Amino acid sequence: MSNMQHCDKSIYKVAISIPVYRLFDYLAPEDTASDSIKPGVRVEVPFGKGKKVGYVLEITTYSEFELIKLKPILRVIDPHPLLSKKDLRLLQWAANYYHHPIGVVIGSAFPAALRQGKVMLIKPQKRYALTDMGVATSSQQLQRMPKQQQALEKFQSTGSSLTEAELTLWEEGWRPAVKQLITKKLIQLTLSEAGVANVGALMNKPALPANTQQQAAIDAVCTSLGQFGVFLLDGVTGSGKTEVYLQIIRSVLERGQQVLVLVPEITLTPQLEDRFRQRFAVDIALSHSKLTDKQRAVAWLKMQQGQGSILLGTRSALFTPLKNPGLIILDEEHDASFKQQEGFRFSARDIAVVRGQLLHIPVLLGSATPSLESLHNVNKQRYQLLALPDRAGKAIEPTLHLLDIRNKRMQEGLSAALLEEIHKTLARQEQVLLFLNRRGFAPTLICHGCGWVARCHRCDANLVIHVDENCLRCHHCAKEQPLLRRCPECKVGELTPLGLGTERVEKVLAELFPNKVTVRLDRDSTQRKGVLEDYLQQINNGEVDIILGTQMLAKGHHFPNVTLVAILDVDSGLFSIDFHAAEKLAQMIVQVSGRAGRAEKRGKVIMQTRQPDHPLLTTLIQQGYQSFAISALAERKQAALPPFSYQALLRVQAAEEALPSIFFQALADLIKTLNVRHTQILGPVSAPMARRAGLYRYQLLFQNNRRNELQHFLDELVPKLAAIKQAKKVHWTLDIDPVDLY
Ligand code: ADP
Ligand code: ZN
Ligand code: ZN
Repeated sequence: MSNMQHCDKSIYKVAISIPVYRLFDYLAPEDTASDSIKPGVRVEVPFGKGKKVGYVLEITTYSEFELIKLKPILRVIDPHPLLSKKDLRLLQWAANYYHHPIGVVIGSAFPAALRQGKVMLIKPQKRYALTDMGVATSSQQLQRMPKQQQALEKFQSTGSSLTEAELTLWEEGWRPAVKQLITKKLIQLTLSEAGVANVGALMNKPALPANTQQQAAIDAVCTSLGQFGVFLLDGVTGSGKTEVYLQIIRSVLERGQQVLVLVPEITLTPQLEDRFRQRFAVDIALSHSKLTDKQRAVAWLKMQQGQGSILLGTRSALFTPLKNPGLIILDEEHDASFKQQEGFRFSARDIAVVRGQLLHIPVLLGSATPSLESLHNVNKQRYQLLALPDRAGKAIEPTLHLLDIRNKRMQEGLSAALLEEIHKTLARQEQVLLFLNRRGFAPTLICHGCGWVARCHRCDANLVIHVDENCLRCHHCAKEQPLLRRCPECKVGELTPLGLGTERVEKVLAELFPNKVTVRLDRDSTQRKGVLEDYLQQINNGEVDIILGTQMLAKGHHFPNVTLVAILDVDSGLFSIDFHAAEKLAQMIVQVSGRAGRAEKRGKVIMQTRQPDHPLLTTLIQQGYQSFAISALAERKQAALPPFSYQALLRVQAAEEALPSIFFQALADLIKTLNVRHTQILGPVSAPMARRAGLYRYQLLFQNNRRNELQHFLDELVPKLAAIKQAKKVHWTLDIDPVDLY
């Protein structure tokens, strides 16, 4: 900052997607009229020996470098910025709040193809739909023009708008007939652009008649359209939250505005996408990690240009620019996957709220098990609570039971009492769902002769036995080795699997219920594309008797014929050192329970436990999630933990064991020179998993009762920390509002 040089040329401050906390100065390109460059445009700049894509953030006449050292921009990629001023402000805010390099943060707003500097054009998609007259006209009237008659019938039977591609698929030579129908005002062309006026063309299917509570929620959000407000839709599974979203979205579409819908994992919930497509005839864009770069870029551009009306995406879709923003919805807002766990560790939920504020639009958060943070914000009257206490339709709430398994004989994790319940349920031709949050056959392989245990050489963790793939695998670094037959230590002892994984339960179920069909749903069994969809289809068709799986089952699936849910090992969640664990366990229990009895049949939930008096379990069962949340919040308050205080976790990793302590010494020296503003500094300590993937791991926690004070302290700390040489020898990251202390 020493000698700022004023000059008579424009200096372009460019953010580049590399992990450094600064902008880079460039001169105008040699051949372009420089006044065409606006903040937000992508440019290609010389960098080191090569070139990089960057984003112009500011245009000034100052530089801290000598003018002759500055190089011109090589190429201006965009004639107009793809990100609006408000988008840029949001990203700038996020970079400041998460103390993450601005270039990386802006880069993360773009899909990979655009981040690499590609220029892509998308054509508006033409869609055809029935007019009101077309709906009312009997195709018999077109008897003498069979082509037109068939086309009208096609539209009437589909009941939705059709794209050119869909029409071509139906009938190669569709154009003349459809043209005639347009002249007769039976069909209309709707370029799919935001601002579609004709509501008839927006809808494939009419809405369900909302119940009183649903209507109250819909009205609350709809009267807030066009202004900022945050709403927490707190409704048990099956209470009709999705229906509420759909009806509010309709109102937003009628205003010619776009909707951003964020969900934890789309690929795990194909049913949700179907419901959106069945309801709306508008252009629905998708954005998630299983799509190709090109598909994601097209979805992004469609929203940016106003062609797409609804974007259904995972957390990375949060930054997608919207030409006409109207509403942001976050479904399952409690889900930890809204927090990015590597690189730019942002919370999509928290940034969504900031984005809503910037854009003057409402933000709707929904969950059956709201996060303690959001409930706290309701208590503070920052968010408005909308409650759906009852299940919609005819579904009845399941009953929850603790099953004391102390001193009981267990058969591969299944008690006799549970087996009897399973038999009874299957005898009624109903489905059973078994939940076990552990993949593989068994989590430990131990030698019965000498006690040797198969460990990962690169992590402080045991290798998990995977019998199906005949291997031992580390679930932390993915390292794999063939399954051992003999103990490598004593060479004679018998190797024994210890503990329970889904594969093991699957095998015992096959023995105990030889005539029943079991499917296993976990990350291993559903890796291949389309497999999960097939399984879900089989379950819904009633071809499956027992569904066994991991947390994948807790994610919004709808299994109407499941009437018995059993959580095989609830105790494993009770003893974590992370204070978030109780909240996560309670959410998981309620979410899994929610899969039971969604149709007319009453469901039963059984939890096997050796801790039948544990307060978390008894509160949850006797009084429900809300009571649990009230007492959990009281505990957090007592202990001054978030959301009653604010945390930032500094994680440090190094390949050499000595480096982290050298780093922490330098950090301590640096902190002595700063105003810590009442920030508590806890640590450094070894991470709960002290070694992972060959790296030694440590952490240091900053905590402050005031967010501002913590932020000011970090504002001062981070750039200085990034500059010290000891910091360059380790890998360090700062996690603001960490949700996982591991
Ligand atoms: P959630 O998203 O809270 O789990 P859904 O919106 O999926 O709930 O609704 C659960 C079930 O109840 C669905 O089958 C849905 O079609 C039905 N449903 C929702 N709202 C209504 C309503 N107002 N009238 C009749 N059925 C409804
Ligand atoms: Zn041995
Ligand atoms: Zn490992």
